[in-house]
Amino acid sequence: HADLALYQSKGSGRNVVHFFNPHLKQKASFELQLEEDLRQALQQDSGLTLFYQPIIDLRSGALSKLEALVRWHHPQHGLLTPERFIAIAEANGFIDQLDNWVLRRACIDLNSLDHMGYPGLKIAVNCSALNLANDQLPGRIEQLLNSTRCPAHCLELEVTESALLSNINRAIGLLENIRALGVSLSIDDFGTGYSSLAYLRRLPLDTLKVDRSFIQDVAHSSQDREIVHAIIAMAHALHLKVVAEGVETAEQLAFLQERDCDQVQGYLFSKPVPLEEIVARFPPHYRPLERVAARS
Ligand code: C2E
Ligand code: MG
Ligand code: MG
Ligand code: MG
Repeated sequence: HADLALYQSKGSGRNVVHFFNPHLKQKASFELQLEEDLRQALQQDSGLTLFYQPIIDLRSGALSKLEALVRWHHPQHGLLTPERFIAIAEANGFIDQLDNWVLRRACIDLNSLDHMGYPGLKIAVNCSALNLANDQLPGRIEQLLNSTRCPAHCLELEVTESALLSNINRAIGLLENIRALGVSLSIDDFGTGYSSLAYLRRLPLDTLKVDRSFIQDVAHSSQDREIVHAIIAMAHALHLKVVAEGVETAEQLAFLQERDCDQVQGYLFSKPVPLEEIVARFPPHYRPLERVAARS
């Protein structure tokens, strides 16, 4: 049994793991193969793709942004979500390449969206913690915006709290340079890291995204309702827009509207889907909020 073998190996030293536990060895070579495949996918620009999830504005009822969420069509394992491969790229020193690929793709898609009649629609792209330690990031983004002729104000970068903690002063400098390009910034999964309100104030942010774990139980937990309410009030006091992540039910939506949340994202509106499907289901000038409200 794999769990048992793992348990035993913990007490008996590292070398023994490989000798006694064929499961772990198998896993190691599986991960190695995946790493190799991912490098190749990046090099050959084959298999990686972006899915998009709508972010809806609660005041206008319109589509406000799309969050780009990377997917990998693996030749043997099928469609893989980021949990399966982001860590591999991070651990092996090519997350910058991956996030660069995502940024380029997002800029290209922004241009297509503009041509299809979605002027001003923004795309939000996730940025790995590791890339925020790379001083070349602002320059790279600038270059990318120039070469794709993509307007900076259509791009938003999502960073997590953990990304900022390791070297806060450096991260602030980097983010300021990125924001100076005209790119917006949001803090992702807010509330899950060791958020310090002191530094939140110092970051050049536009948007705060409340983590899904706080939204999940607002219908049943008065404590969670109070937490979300407090986060929204605090964010507004700092002049930040608030996006609620993981909105799945009409009750959650109603609560967020009542508490003056700015935008929502979640399965209630759509899962992350290919761009074609966004275009088919969310045509320009469509008001997804009215449709969802009518349904419930
Ligand atoms: P995230 O940025 O917080 O993205 C939201 C995640 O929650 C997505 O998972 C999305 O599919 C999921 N989600 C959205 N709405 C709902 C909902 O209503 N209910 C539930 N249960 N889940 C919902 P996904 O696509 O698997 O991405 C996971 C994480 O991987 C992202 O979390 C982000 O941190 C990371 N990631 C995604 N794309 C990239 C990328 O291009 N670069 C980097 N560095 N990280 C990425
Ligand atoms: Mg995100
Ligand atoms: Mg998030
Ligand atoms: Mg998340």
